[in-house]
Amino acid sequence: MADTFSTHPGQDPTVQDLLAARPALSMHAIDGLVFEDVPLNAIADALGTPTWVMGARTLRTRYHRLDRAMRDAGLDVDIHFAVKANDHLAVLKILRAQGAGADVVSGGELRRAMAAGIPANEIVFSGVGKTRAEMELALHHGIARINVESAEELELLSAAAVACGRTAPVALRINPDVDAGTHAKITTGLAGNKFGIPYDRAVDLYARAASLPGIHAAGIAVHIGSQIERMQPYRAAYARVAELVRAIRARGLGVEVIDCGGGLGISYRHETEGAPEALAHAIRTELGDLGTRLEIEPGRWLAGPAGLLLSTVVLRKRGYDGMPPFIVLDAAMNDLARPSLYDAWHGIIPLSARDAVAPAEQVHVVGPVCESGDTFGHDRTLPRLHDGARVALLDTGAYGMVMSSTYNARAMAAQVLVDGARWDVIRARQKIETLWECDIIPETLTRPAGAE
Ligand SMILES: *Cc1c(COP(=O)(O)O)cnc(C)c1O
Repeated sequence: MADTFSTHPGQDPTVQDLLAARPALSMHAIDGLVFEDVPLNAIADALGTPTWVMGARTLRTRYHRLDRAMRDAGLDVDIHFAVKANDHLAVLKILRAQGAGADVVSGGELRRAMAAGIPANEIVFSGVGKTRAEMELALHHGIARINVESAEELELLSAAAVACGRTAPVALRINPDVDAGTHAKITTGLAGNKFGIPYDRAVDLYARAASLPGIHAAGIAVHIGSQIERMQPYRAAYARVAELVRAIRARGLGVEVIDCGGGLGISYRHETEGAPEALAHAIRTELGDLGTRLEIEPGRWLAGPAGLLLSTVVLRKRGYDGMPPFIVLDAAMNDLARPSLYDAWHGIIPLSARDAVAPAEQVHVVGPVCESGDTFGHDRTLPRLHDGARVALLDTGAYGMVMSSTYNARAMAAQVLVDGARWDVIRARQKIETLWECDIIPETLTRPAGAE
Protein backbone atom coordinates (compact mmCIF):
# COMPACT_ATOMS: atom_id res chain seq x y z
CA MET A 1 0.00 0.00 0.00
CA ALA A 2 1.31 3.40 -0.96
CA ASP A 3 2.30 5.80 1.76
CA THR A 4 0.25 9.01 1.76
CA PHE A 5 3.07 11.00 3.24
CA SER A 6 5.77 10.41 0.69
CA THR A 7 6.10 12.11 -2.65
CA HIS A 8 7.53 10.23 -5.58
CA PRO A 9 8.08 11.98 -8.86
CA GLY A 10 5.27 11.06 -11.22
CA GLN A 11 3.02 10.02 -8.38
CA ASP A 12 -0.02 11.94 -7.37
CA PRO A 13 0.46 14.73 -4.85
CA THR A 14 -0.58 13.76 -1.33
CA VAL A 15 -3.11 15.57 0.82
CA GLN A 16 -0.18 17.40 2.43
CA ASP A 17 1.25 18.37 -0.96
CA LEU A 18 -2.12 19.65 -2.14
CA LEU A 19 -2.59 21.72 1.03
CA ALA A 20 0.93 23.11 0.93
CA ALA A 21 0.38 24.45 -2.58
CA ARG A 22 -2.98 26.08 -1.74
CA PRO A 23 -2.67 28.85 0.84
CA ALA A 24 -6.44 29.36 1.08
CA LEU A 25 -6.88 25.78 2.38
CA SER A 26 -5.76 24.44 5.74
CA MET A 27 -6.50 21.36 7.84
CA HIS A 28 -7.42 21.74 11.51
CA ALA A 29 -7.79 19.00 14.10
CA ILE A 30 -11.36 19.88 15.09
CA ASP A 31 -12.68 22.06 12.27
CA GLY A 32 -11.24 19.86 9.56
CA LEU A 33 -10.67 21.39 6.14
CA VAL A 34 -10.94 25.18 6.26
CA PHE A 35 -11.26 27.37 3.14
CA GLU A 36 -10.21 30.97 3.75
CA ASP A 37 -11.55 31.08 7.36
CA VAL A 38 -14.61 28.87 6.99
CA PRO A 39 -14.76 25.20 8.05
CA LEU A 40 -16.20 23.43 5.02
CA ASN A 41 -18.10 20.96 7.21
CA ALA A 42 -20.26 23.85 8.44
CA ILE A 43 -21.35 24.50 4.86
CA ALA A 44 -22.00 20.81 4.15
CA ASP A 45 -23.93 20.47 7.44
CA ALA A 46 -26.17 23.37 6.50
CA LEU A 47 -26.73 22.68 2.81
CA GLY A 48 -25.82 19.07 2.18
CA THR A 49 -23.79 18.05 -0.85
CA PRO A 50 -22.91 18.35 -3.67
CA THR A 51 -22.23 22.04 -3.09
CA TRP A 52 -19.93 24.43 -4.91
CA VAL A 53 -17.87 26.88 -2.88
CA MET A 54 -16.18 30.00 -4.22
CA GLY A 55 -13.68 32.07 -2.23
CA ALA A 56 -14.05 35.83 -2.56
CA ARG A 57 -10.77 36.64 -0.84
CA THR A 58 -8.96 34.13 -3.03
CA LEU A 59 -10.43 35.70 -6.17
CA ARG A 60 -9.36 39.18 -5.09
CA THR A 61 -5.86 38.02 -4.17
CA ARG A 62 -5.41 36.39 -7.56
CA TYR A 63 -6.75 39.42 -9.41
CA HIS A 64 -4.36 41.70 -7.57
CA ARG A 65 -1.37 39.49 -8.32
CA LEU A 66 -2.20 39.53 -12.02
CA ASP A 67 -2.84 43.25 -12.04
CA ARG A 68 0.37 43.95 -10.12
CA ALA A 69 2.42 41.74 -12.43
CA MET A 70 1.29 43.83 -15.40
CA ARG A 71 1.97 47.13 -13.63
CA ASP A 72 5.37 45.97 -12.37
CA ALA A 73 6.31 45.20 -15.96
CA GLY A 74 5.46 48.81 -16.79
CA LEU A 75 2.38 47.75 -18.76
CA ASP A 76 -1.05 49.33 -18.72
CA VAL A 77 -3.15 46.25 -19.43
CA ASP A 78 -6.93 46.05 -19.19
CA ILE A 79 -8.01 42.77 -17.63
CA HIS A 80 -11.20 41.32 -19.10
CA PHE A 81 -12.37 38.28 -17.15
CA ALA A 82 -13.45 35.43 -19.45
CA VAL A 83 -17.02 35.07 -18.20
CA LYS A 84 -17.41 31.56 -19.58
CA ALA A 85 -15.05 30.26 -16.86
CA ASN A 86 -17.48 31.28 -14.11
CA ASP A 87 -20.50 33.42 -14.85
CA HIS A 88 -22.01 33.73 -11.37
CA LEU A 89 -23.11 37.32 -10.76
CA ALA A 90 -21.36 37.40 -7.37
CA VAL A 91 -18.07 36.30 -8.94
CA LEU A 92 -18.43 38.91 -11.68
CA LYS A 93 -19.26 41.61 -9.11
CA ILE A 94 -16.19 40.75 -7.02
CA LEU A 95 -13.90 40.97 -10.04
CA ARG A 96 -15.61 44.13 -11.25
CA ALA A 97 -14.99 45.75 -7.87
CA GLN A 98 -11.26 45.09 -8.39
CA GLY A 99 -11.42 46.76 -11.80
CA ALA A 100 -12.07 43.90 -14.21
CA GLY A 101 -13.99 44.20 -17.45
CA ALA A 102 -15.35 41.13 -19.20
CA ASP A 103 -14.80 38.93 -22.22
CA VAL A 104 -18.04 37.26 -23.32
CA VAL A 105 -18.85 34.66 -25.96
CA SER A 106 -22.63 34.88 -26.19
CA GLY A 107 -25.50 37.31 -25.82
CA GLY A 108 -26.38 35.53 -22.58
CA GLU A 109 -22.93 36.15 -21.15
CA LEU A 110 -23.12 39.77 -22.26
CA ARG A 111 -26.38 40.17 -20.39
CA ARG A 112 -24.97 38.39 -17.33
CA ALA A 113 -21.92 40.64 -17.28
CA MET A 114 -24.09 43.74 -17.57
CA ALA A 115 -26.43 42.40 -14.87
CA ALA A 116 -23.37 42.17 -12.61
CA GLY A 117 -22.66 45.85 -13.21
CA ILE A 118 -19.93 45.63 -15.83
CA PRO A 119 -20.61 48.39 -18.35
CA ALA A 120 -20.82 47.30 -22.00
CA ASN A 121 -18.00 49.66 -22.89
CA GLU A 122 -15.69 47.43 -20.82
CA ILE A 123 -16.89 44.21 -22.40
CA VAL A 124 -15.36 42.47 -25.40
CA PHE A 125 -17.42 40.00 -27.44
CA SER A 126 -15.56 36.95 -28.81
CA GLY A 127 -16.77 33.71 -30.39
CA VAL A 128 -16.99 32.01 -33.78
CA GLY A 129 -20.74 32.17 -34.32
CA LYS A 130 -22.32 35.38 -33.11
CA THR A 131 -25.88 35.63 -34.35
CA ARG A 132 -27.36 38.77 -35.86
CA ALA A 133 -29.45 39.20 -32.70
CA GLU A 134 -26.33 38.96 -30.53
CA MET A 135 -24.51 41.50 -32.70
CA GLU A 136 -27.45 43.89 -32.43
CA LEU A 137 -27.65 43.42 -28.67
CA ALA A 138 -23.95 44.20 -28.31
CA LEU A 139 -24.09 47.24 -30.60
CA HIS A 140 -27.24 48.54 -28.98
CA HIS A 141 -25.54 48.55 -25.57
CA GLY A 142 -22.33 50.13 -26.87
CA ILE A 143 -19.97 47.15 -26.57
CA ALA A 144 -16.28 48.03 -26.23
CA ARG A 145 -15.33 45.73 -29.08
CA ILE A 146 -16.33 42.74 -31.13
CA ASN A 147 -13.57 40.27 -31.89
CA VAL A 148 -14.34 39.01 -35.37
CA GLU A 149 -13.31 35.45 -36.19
CA SER A 150 -13.92 35.19 -39.95
CA ALA A 151 -14.30 37.12 -43.20
CA GLU A 152 -17.92 36.00 -43.33
CA GLU A 153 -18.65 37.32 -39.86
CA LEU A 154 -17.06 40.67 -40.73
CA GLU A 155 -19.53 41.16 -43.61
CA LEU A 156 -22.49 40.14 -41.42
CA LEU A 157 -21.39 42.52 -38.68
CA SER A 158 -21.00 45.38 -41.12
CA ALA A 159 -24.55 44.82 -42.36
CA ALA A 160 -25.92 44.55 -38.82
CA ALA A 161 -24.14 47.73 -37.72
CA VAL A 162 -25.33 49.71 -40.73
CA ALA A 163 -28.89 48.49 -40.19
CA CYS A 164 -28.96 49.71 -36.61
CA GLY A 165 -27.02 52.88 -37.31
CA ARG A 166 -23.99 52.00 -35.20
CA THR A 167 -20.29 51.59 -35.74
CA ALA A 168 -18.82 48.34 -34.47
CA PRO A 169 -15.32 48.63 -33.00
CA VAL A 170 -13.62 45.48 -34.27
CA ALA A 171 -10.49 43.45 -33.64
CA LEU A 172 -9.64 40.58 -35.94
CA ARG A 173 -8.93 37.42 -34.00
CA ILE A 174 -6.09 35.83 -35.84
CA ASN A 175 -5.05 32.22 -35.74
CA PRO A 176 -1.27 32.38 -35.33
CA ASP A 177 -0.87 28.63 -36.03
CA VAL A 178 1.01 28.11 -32.77
CA ASP A 179 0.72 24.94 -30.70
CA ALA A 180 -0.14 25.92 -27.14
CA GLY A 181 1.09 22.53 -25.94
CA THR A 182 -2.14 21.83 -24.11
CA HIS A 183 -5.01 19.31 -24.33
CA ALA A 184 -6.39 18.87 -27.88
CA LYS A 185 -9.88 19.93 -26.78
CA ILE A 186 -8.66 23.24 -25.36
CA THR A 187 -6.07 24.27 -27.94
CA THR A 188 -7.39 26.96 -30.25
CA GLY A 189 -4.48 28.54 -32.08
CA LEU A 190 -3.61 25.84 -34.59
CA ALA A 191 -4.46 26.24 -38.28
CA GLY A 192 -6.82 23.26 -38.09
CA ASN A 193 -8.94 24.77 -35.28
CA LYS A 194 -12.24 26.51 -35.97
CA PHE A 195 -11.01 29.67 -34.26
CA GLY A 196 -9.72 32.85 -35.79
CA ILE A 197 -8.63 34.17 -39.15
CA PRO A 198 -5.78 32.46 -41.01
CA TYR A 199 -2.63 34.43 -40.41
CA ASP A 200 -1.78 35.01 -44.06
CA ARG A 201 -5.23 36.45 -44.79
CA ALA A 202 -5.20 38.87 -41.86
CA VAL A 203 -3.66 41.95 -43.50
CA ASP A 204 -6.07 41.89 -46.44
CA LEU A 205 -9.02 41.29 -44.18
CA TYR A 206 -7.95 44.14 -41.91
CA ALA A 207 -7.88 46.43 -44.96
CA ARG A 208 -11.32 45.17 -45.87
CA ALA A 209 -12.55 45.86 -42.32
CA ALA A 210 -11.18 49.39 -42.49
CA SER A 211 -13.12 49.98 -45.70
CA LEU A 212 -16.47 48.54 -44.64
CA PRO A 213 -19.34 50.75 -43.49
CA GLY A 214 -20.34 50.29 -39.86
CA ILE A 215 -16.94 48.88 -38.92
CA HIS A 216 -14.09 50.56 -37.08
CA ALA A 217 -10.97 48.43 -37.45
CA ALA A 218 -9.43 48.85 -34.01
CA GLY A 219 -6.98 46.03 -33.51
CA ILE A 220 -5.84 42.45 -33.38
CA ALA A 221 -6.82 39.68 -30.97
CA VAL A 222 -5.20 36.34 -30.32
CA HIS A 223 -6.12 33.50 -27.95
CA ILE A 224 -4.20 30.28 -28.47
CA GLY A 225 -5.80 27.94 -25.96
CA SER A 226 -6.30 27.20 -22.31
CA GLN A 227 -4.29 25.74 -19.41
CA ILE A 228 -1.01 26.96 -20.94
CA GLU A 229 1.98 26.38 -18.68
CA ARG A 230 4.94 27.55 -20.70
CA MET A 231 5.60 31.02 -22.08
CA GLN A 232 7.10 29.91 -25.36
CA PRO A 233 3.72 29.51 -27.18
CA TYR A 234 2.67 32.96 -25.94
CA ARG A 235 5.89 34.51 -27.14
CA ALA A 236 5.60 32.81 -30.51
CA ALA A 237 2.00 33.98 -30.92
CA TYR A 238 2.75 37.54 -29.79
CA ALA A 239 5.76 37.75 -32.09
CA ARG A 240 3.48 36.89 -35.00
CA VAL A 241 0.96 39.49 -33.83
CA ALA A 242 3.69 42.13 -33.70
CA GLU A 243 4.76 41.23 -37.22
CA LEU A 244 1.16 41.55 -38.35
CA VAL A 245 0.66 44.92 -36.67
CA ARG A 246 3.72 46.24 -38.50
CA ALA A 247 2.46 44.86 -41.81
CA ILE A 248 -0.96 46.45 -41.28
CA ARG A 249 0.58 49.79 -40.38
CA ALA A 250 2.79 49.58 -43.45
CA ARG A 251 -0.45 49.59 -45.45
CA GLY A 252 -1.32 52.89 -43.82
CA LEU A 253 -3.93 51.47 -41.45
CA GLY A 254 -4.20 52.09 -37.72
CA VAL A 255 -3.94 49.47 -34.98
CA GLU A 256 -4.97 50.81 -31.58
CA VAL A 257 -5.40 47.74 -29.47
CA ILE A 258 -3.99 44.24 -29.05
CA ASP A 259 -6.05 41.69 -27.17
CA CYS A 260 -3.52 39.17 -25.88
CA GLY A 261 -6.11 36.52 -24.95
CA GLY A 262 -6.32 34.28 -21.93
CA GLY A 263 -5.13 30.74 -21.34
CA LEU A 264 -2.79 31.04 -18.38
CA GLY A 265 -2.69 27.64 -16.69
CA ILE A 266 -3.01 26.60 -13.06
CA SER A 267 -1.60 23.71 -11.08
CA TYR A 268 -4.22 20.98 -10.74
CA ARG A 269 -1.72 18.19 -10.14
CA HIS A 270 1.98 18.57 -10.99
CA GLU A 271 1.68 21.39 -13.52
CA THR A 272 3.60 24.56 -12.94
CA GLU A 273 1.11 27.37 -12.53
CA GLY A 274 1.44 29.95 -15.29
CA ALA A 275 3.15 32.96 -13.72
CA PRO A 276 1.49 36.33 -14.40
CA GLU A 277 4.95 37.91 -14.09
CA ALA A 278 6.23 35.72 -16.94
CA LEU A 279 3.19 36.52 -19.04
CA ALA A 280 3.72 40.23 -18.41
CA HIS A 281 7.32 39.84 -19.49
CA ALA A 282 6.29 38.04 -22.70
CA ILE A 283 3.76 40.77 -23.51
CA ARG A 284 6.26 43.54 -22.83
CA THR A 285 9.04 41.89 -24.82
CA GLU A 286 6.98 41.09 -27.89
CA LEU A 287 4.32 43.81 -27.94
CA GLY A 288 5.45 46.51 -25.52
CA ASP A 289 6.94 48.90 -28.05
CA LEU A 290 4.05 49.02 -30.53
CA GLY A 291 2.27 51.83 -28.73
CA THR A 292 -1.11 50.09 -28.68
CA ARG A 293 -3.51 49.60 -25.82
CA LEU A 294 -3.14 46.10 -24.36
CA GLU A 295 -5.68 43.69 -22.95
CA ILE A 296 -5.76 40.17 -21.53
CA GLU A 297 -8.70 37.77 -21.03
CA PRO A 298 -7.89 35.32 -18.27
CA GLY A 299 -10.57 32.95 -17.01
CA ARG A 300 -9.14 29.79 -15.49
CA TRP A 301 -6.17 31.42 -13.78
CA LEU A 302 -8.37 33.86 -11.87
CA ALA A 303 -11.29 31.62 -10.95
CA GLY A 304 -10.05 28.01 -10.99
CA PRO A 305 -8.16 27.88 -7.68
CA ALA A 306 -10.88 29.99 -6.02
CA GLY A 307 -13.43 27.19 -6.14
CA LEU A 308 -14.18 23.78 -4.60
CA LEU A 309 -16.87 21.16 -4.99
CA LEU A 310 -17.99 19.48 -1.77
CA SER A 311 -19.26 15.93 -2.04
CA THR A 312 -20.14 12.94 0.16
CA VAL A 313 -19.20 9.29 -0.28
CA VAL A 314 -22.47 7.44 -1.00
CA LEU A 315 -20.83 4.05 -0.68
CA ARG A 316 -17.72 2.02 -1.30
CA LYS A 317 -18.15 -0.64 -3.93
CA ARG A 318 -15.78 -3.58 -3.65
CA GLY A 319 -13.39 -4.09 -6.56
CA TYR A 320 -13.38 -7.61 -7.96
CA ASP A 321 -10.38 -9.80 -8.71
CA GLY A 322 -8.03 -7.58 -6.75
CA MET A 323 -9.15 -4.41 -8.56
CA PRO A 324 -9.29 -1.20 -6.52
CA PRO A 325 -12.62 -0.41 -4.85
CA PHE A 326 -14.93 2.24 -6.29
CA ILE A 327 -15.63 5.24 -4.11
CA VAL A 328 -19.05 6.43 -5.30
CA LEU A 329 -19.65 10.13 -4.63
CA ASP A 330 -22.91 12.06 -4.64
CA ALA A 331 -21.35 14.51 -7.12
CA ALA A 332 -21.20 13.42 -10.74
CA MET A 333 -20.13 14.38 -14.23
CA ASN A 334 -23.30 16.45 -14.57
CA ASP A 335 -21.89 18.68 -11.79
CA LEU A 336 -18.20 18.68 -12.67
CA ALA A 337 -17.73 17.71 -16.31
CA ARG A 338 -14.01 18.35 -16.69
CA PRO A 339 -12.77 14.87 -15.77
CA SER A 340 -15.11 13.18 -18.26
CA LEU A 341 -14.58 15.85 -20.96
CA TYR A 342 -10.83 16.40 -20.75
CA ASP A 343 -9.53 13.60 -18.52
CA ALA A 344 -8.92 16.41 -16.05
CA TRP A 345 -7.31 15.63 -12.71
CA HIS A 346 -8.71 17.33 -9.61
CA GLY A 347 -7.22 16.97 -6.16
CA ILE A 348 -9.48 15.28 -3.62
CA ILE A 349 -9.17 16.06 0.12
CA PRO A 350 -11.33 14.73 2.96
CA LEU A 351 -13.12 17.40 4.98
CA SER A 352 -12.38 15.68 8.28
CA ALA A 353 -8.86 15.81 9.72
CA ARG A 354 -9.23 12.22 10.91
CA ASP A 355 -10.20 10.98 7.46
CA ALA A 356 -7.28 12.88 5.99
CA VAL A 357 -4.74 10.84 7.94
CA ALA A 358 -6.39 7.45 7.43
CA PRO A 359 -4.10 4.85 5.82
CA ALA A 360 -3.88 5.34 2.08
CA GLU A 361 -5.35 2.97 -0.46
CA GLN A 362 -5.70 2.73 -4.22
CA VAL A 363 -9.24 3.58 -5.41
CA HIS A 364 -11.35 4.66 -8.36
CA VAL A 365 -13.46 7.70 -7.53
CA VAL A 366 -16.70 7.82 -9.51
CA GLY A 367 -20.09 9.51 -9.64
CA PRO A 368 -23.48 7.78 -9.77
CA VAL A 369 -24.39 8.78 -13.34
CA CYS A 370 -24.99 5.94 -15.82
CA GLU A 371 -21.88 6.54 -17.91
CA SER A 372 -18.45 4.96 -17.56
CA GLY A 373 -17.06 8.44 -18.19
CA ASP A 374 -18.52 9.54 -14.88
CA THR A 375 -15.17 9.08 -13.16
CA PHE A 376 -13.36 11.68 -11.07
CA GLY A 377 -10.19 9.74 -10.46
CA HIS A 378 -8.75 6.52 -11.78
CA ASP A 379 -6.29 4.63 -9.60
CA ARG A 380 -6.06 7.38 -7.03
CA THR A 381 -4.08 6.96 -3.85
CA LEU A 382 -6.33 8.47 -1.19
CA PRO A 383 -6.76 8.14 2.56
CA ARG A 384 -9.34 5.38 3.11
CA LEU A 385 -12.79 6.95 2.72
CA HIS A 386 -15.75 5.41 4.53
CA ASP A 387 -19.43 5.68 3.57
CA GLY A 388 -20.63 9.17 4.46
CA ALA A 389 -17.15 10.73 4.46
CA ARG A 390 -17.05 14.14 2.87
CA VAL A 391 -14.47 15.34 0.40
CA ALA A 392 -13.57 18.53 -1.45
CA LEU A 393 -12.70 18.38 -5.15
CA LEU A 394 -10.16 21.13 -5.65
CA ASP A 395 -9.66 23.88 -8.21
CA THR A 396 -13.18 23.74 -9.62
CA GLY A 397 -13.82 27.51 -9.73
CA ALA A 398 -13.36 27.69 -13.51
CA TYR A 399 -15.26 25.53 -16.00
CA GLY A 400 -17.03 23.88 -13.06
CA MET A 401 -20.57 25.00 -12.26
CA VAL A 402 -20.88 26.66 -15.68
CA MET A 403 -20.61 23.28 -17.39
CA SER A 404 -23.17 21.57 -15.14
CA SER A 405 -26.16 19.89 -16.67
CA THR A 406 -29.18 18.13 -15.24
CA TYR A 407 -28.35 14.79 -16.92
CA ASN A 408 -29.95 11.84 -15.10
CA ALA A 409 -32.51 14.35 -13.72
CA ARG A 410 -30.00 15.58 -11.21
CA ALA A 411 -30.71 19.06 -9.91
CA MET A 412 -28.04 21.75 -10.14
CA ALA A 413 -26.02 21.87 -6.94
CA ALA A 414 -26.14 24.69 -4.40
CA GLN A 415 -23.39 27.29 -4.37
CA VAL A 416 -21.78 29.22 -1.53
CA LEU A 417 -19.50 32.23 -1.42
CA VAL A 418 -16.90 32.25 1.33
CA ASP A 419 -15.35 35.61 2.15
CA GLY A 420 -12.79 35.37 4.93
CA ALA A 421 -14.75 34.10 7.94
CA ARG A 422 -18.25 34.58 6.54
CA TRP A 423 -20.19 32.57 4.04
CA ASP A 424 -23.39 33.08 2.09
CA VAL A 425 -25.51 30.90 -0.14
CA ILE A 426 -25.21 32.40 -3.62
CA ARG A 427 -27.29 29.82 -5.44
CA ALA A 428 -30.02 27.69 -3.92
CA ARG A 429 -30.01 24.02 -4.78
CA GLN A 430 -32.31 23.61 -7.75
CA LYS A 431 -35.74 22.17 -6.95
CA ILE A 432 -36.35 18.93 -8.80
CA GLU A 433 -39.76 20.08 -10.10
CA THR A 434 -38.09 22.90 -12.02
CA LEU A 435 -36.45 20.27 -14.23
CA TRP A 436 -39.71 19.62 -16.08
CA GLU A 437 -41.14 23.10 -15.69
CA CYS A 438 -40.66 23.87 -19.39
CA ASP A 439 -41.83 20.46 -20.66
CA ILE A 440 -45.07 20.77 -22.62
CA ILE A 441 -47.33 17.76 -23.04
CA PRO A 442 -49.19 17.88 -26.37
CA GLU A 443 -52.92 17.94 -25.86
CA THR A 444 -53.35 14.70 -27.81
CA LEU A 445 -51.50 12.90 -25.03
CA THR A 446 -53.79 14.24 -22.34
CA ARG A 447 -57.12 13.31 -23.95
CA PRO A 448 -58.85 10.37 -22.41
CA ALA A 449 -58.28 7.14 -24.36
CA GLY A 450 -60.79 6.66 -27.21
CA ALA A 451 -61.95 10.29 -27.23
CA GLU A 452 -61.91 12.00 -30.66
C1 LIG B 1 -12.02 30.73 -23.12
C2 LIG B 1 -11.43 32.01 -23.59
C3 LIG B 1 -10.62 32.76 -22.74
C4 LIG B 1 -10.24 32.32 -21.35
O1 LIG B 1 -9.45 31.20 -21.36
P1 LIG B 1 -8.76 30.72 -19.97
O2 LIG B 1 -7.97 29.55 -20.37
O3 LIG B 1 -9.86 30.37 -19.06
O4 LIG B 1 -7.93 31.83 -19.49
C5 LIG B 1 -10.14 33.96 -23.22
N1 LIG B 1 -10.44 34.39 -24.47
C6 LIG B 1 -11.20 33.68 -25.32
C7 LIG B 1 -11.48 34.21 -26.67
C8 LIG B 1 -11.73 32.46 -24.92
O5 LIG B 1 -12.48 31.76 -25.75
